[in-house]
Amino acid sequence: MKIILLGPPGAGKGTIAKALTQYDASVQISTGDILRAAVAAGTELGKQAEAAMSAGNLVTDELIMGIMEQRLQEDDCKAGYLLDGFPRTIPQAEALQVLLEKMGEKLDAVLELQIPRDVIIDRLTTRRTCAQCGEIYNVKSKPPKVDGVCDVCGSNEIVQRDDETVEAINNRLEVYQAQTAPLSAFYQNTGLLVSVQTSDLSPVMTALKLKIDN
Ligand code: ADP
Ligand code: ZN
Repeated sequence: MKIILLGPPGAGKGTIAKALTQYDASVQISTGDILRAAVAAGTELGKQAEAAMSAGNLVTDELIMGIMEQRLQEDDCKAGYLLDGFPRTIPQAEALQVLLEKMGEKLDAVLELQIPRDVIIDRLTTRRTCAQCGEIYNVKSKPPKVDGVCDVCGSNEIVQRDDETVEAINNRLEVYQAQTAPLSAFYQNTGLLVSVQTSDLSPVMTALKLKIDN
């Protein structure tokens, strides 16, 4: 599958992307994870991205396109990919089209998750992330098995991301409305858009199958 996941922060893009990787050899590519790893490692890229990220603003299109041009040409992408958090602006979507054309590739679908704002705010304020491996937890719905210890890697650094304060969350939602929401109409025009009002896997799979089989 070659799929773009579209939807506001907290819509469940990462969870759905991970779940979709079980159906074939497609890889999940999360620009947020790539950037957070760069910040943690203190690379040049990380230094350029850090301030925008912690305020909940977007990093520049140039920086993102630099990352994605490289990433999409790696070998593991041949089997398909689930783009989680990219593209996020119209210029990124246009640049992606040019890139895919150059590579002779076509997307199967753009999956849009439409989740109400109150649900999103509740999810994001209760979300916790393993600082070591990136595993996502939720203090209400998915706490780690042992309090404060990551189920996956055993680290005890389960933290709230610094863009998950109420202030930064509100800003991320505004940024989404202004810069990313227009992608819905953009992909509607290309005939690729599939919109669902859930982040439950089974209805998502049904909607995607209908789209891909058509
Ligand atoms: P979200 O939960 O908001 O979907 P992500 O993990 O996808 O969060 O992204 C975290 C941050 O990384 C964003 O707020 C933004 O600063 C930066 N970022 C990620 N992807 C992009 C992108 N495609 N374009 C610009 N900035 C991005
Ligand atoms: Zn972990």
